[in-house]
Amino acid sequence: MRFTVTSRGDETSNTLKKTITNYLTDFGLTENEKEPEIVITVGGDGTLLQAFHHYHERLDDTCFVGIHTGHLGFYADWKASEAEKLVIHIAKTPFQVVEYPLLEVVVRHHNEKKSHRHLAMNECTIKTLEGSLVCNVDIKGEKFETFRGDGLCISTPSGSTAYNKALGGAILHPSLASMQISEMASINNRVYRTVGSPLILPQHHTCLLKPLNEVDMQITIDHTSMVGQHIKSIQCRVAEEKVRFARFRPFPFWKRVKESFVGE
Ligand code: NAD
Repeated sequence: MRFTVTSRGDETSNTLKKTITNYLTDFGLTENEKEPEIVITVGGDGTLLQAFHHYHERLDDTCFVGIHTGHLGFYADWKASEAEKLVIHIAKTPFQVVEYPLLEVVVRHHNEKKSHRHLAMNECTIKTLEGSLVCNVDIKGEKFETFRGDGLCISTPSGSTAYNKALGGAILHPSLASMQISEMASINNRVYRTVGSPLILPQHHTCLLKPLNEVDMQITIDHTSMVGQHIKSIQCRVAEEKVRFARFRPFPFWKRVKESFVGE
């Protein structure tokens, strides 16, 4: 089997990356950075997010597994002290694959014919660099509301425990192929009105954001931000693609939620 190991870049993660690479090579697996079948990330959730984006064009042929060298990660759920156990699992046992839904984001500009497509594993956030975000929100082709406020967050189920949670969104089980729209400080008074609650949309329901003011926008996909001008629309929906995780032992989603947020 072809594998690669990525590291957050700190000394502990780099050392562990070397150890894992040596072990797996000794077991007869082939290191292949370009076309790995399994990607082992060492660091935190950010390291796994980066690896996901690096291999986003070959998601069908790639499985991810994450080791955390800091606190328990949501995606990086193996402890550094369990690395040896994980290596033996990878080398010796056929693994189960668990698939999680992703978000498709298509950005269109007023002065460009070409659209730009992105995939998010956690979420896409839309804010402005200055002033409020004012945009029409269409759902399934119909105008739903005009949003005015700090911004909007559209998250995947597995991303619902990240930024979305901080915005008061619900935690969604990743078996629900859906996306969640949550507001960032919407302005609600006699003039401006938004629904005020997070919305959960199923597969095939599209959410189209159409900015109404000519301001520079900050569009963030997971950990990467870009500044956009002359944005015509941002279209979000559940992607056709899925991210695949290698599972060697049961670690149910709700157990991870409990361990991350509630405690023992
Ligand atoms: P980072 O280093 O700032 O990490 C942010 C934290 O989010 C880390 O503790 C990480 O473990 C955690 N995290 C990431 N994905 C998660 C998930 N699916 N469920 C639960 N926790 C998760 O940045 P990073 O590591 O590059 O991660 C980028 C992510 O940070 C973004 O996708 C966004 O979700 C999150 N973020 C959160 C807030 C907030 O909660 N207010 C603000 C900005 C970004």
